[in-house]
Amino acid sequence: MPHKLTLKALAPVTHDTNHYVFDRPEGIDFEPGQAAALMLDREGWRDEDRPFTFTSQPEDTILEFVIKSYPDHDGVTKRLPDLSEGDHMLMTDPFGAITDHGPGVFIAAGAGVTPFISILRRRSRDDALSGSRLLYSNKTEADIILKEEWERMDGLNPVFTVTDEESSDFAQGRIDRKFLQKHVQDFEGKIFYICGPEGFVDDVRDSLKALGAEADNIITEEGW
Ligand SMILES: Cc1cc2nc3c(=O)[nH]c(=O)nc-3n(C[C@H](O)[C@H](O)[C@H](O)COP(=O)(O)OP(=O)(O)OC[C@H]3O[C@@H](n4cnc5c(N)ncnc54)[C@H](O)[C@@H]3O)c2cc1C
Repeated sequence: MPHKLTLKALAPVTHDTNHYVFDRPEGIDFEPGQAAALMLDREGWRDEDRPFTFTSQPEDTILEFVIKSYPDHDGVTKRLPDLSEGDHMLMTDPFGAITDHGPGVFIAAGAGVTPFISILRRRSRDDALSGSRLLYSNKTEADIILKEEWERMDGLNPVFTVTDEESSDFAQGRIDRKFLQKHVQDFEGKIFYICGPEGFVDDVRDSLKALGAEADNIITEEGW
């Protein structure tokens, strides 16, 4: 039986990404970085489950998500911004391979940063960011999710790069081998977290391995 969630608040994060706050039903346990599948509680949509990552902490009394919408595509995320306070969603039990395996390099593209939100917030809260860094790729500056929050996190030293905006002051281009060599020292023995579209994860994983990272130290989630 899916859990029934009630929407308590919805607010924009970027031009196409929103922050959703739901009540928290009993019996939901998860670790920072994990996800659950959500379904719209509407005729014709209850079988359309889509995975989203909790951005709240496991001990919080609410459940939070940060979700990018694809308005040109007639799917679930197109409909989410139309939800109102009091509307319901259905949710499966939590799952997910991305959890906190220790300080490391967190490498994200677009909405792939979401598993790192609760992990890095917790590390920031516990003054445990030493040895961690965020490398974050987006099409443009306007697409960067929680840019100011990352910049404010003491010790995280985030590096943003944009692929489709030449006028930006940020680094230009994709997270490739050259970029990784510039921003990471010592690949051996270090933990790497990668999250983003499938091609991104594969490319970054290959680059990391070529630079000396061990396969067992690369934490990813399938199916983005
Ligand atoms: C474990 C996990 C956790 C995730 N957590 C999050 C999260 O916290 N936040 C988040 O924003 N995303 C997250 N995602 C990604 C999210 O699940 C997808 O974006 C979502 O399922 C898309 O649902 P949809 O019904 O809108 O699109 P679907 O119908 O499922 O379409 C899938 C994909 O189509 C692509 N698409 C976009 N436009 C078009 C178009 N015009 N034509 C065809 N295809 C198009 C998009 O890339 C979209 O992801 C996660 C994915 C995984 C696997």
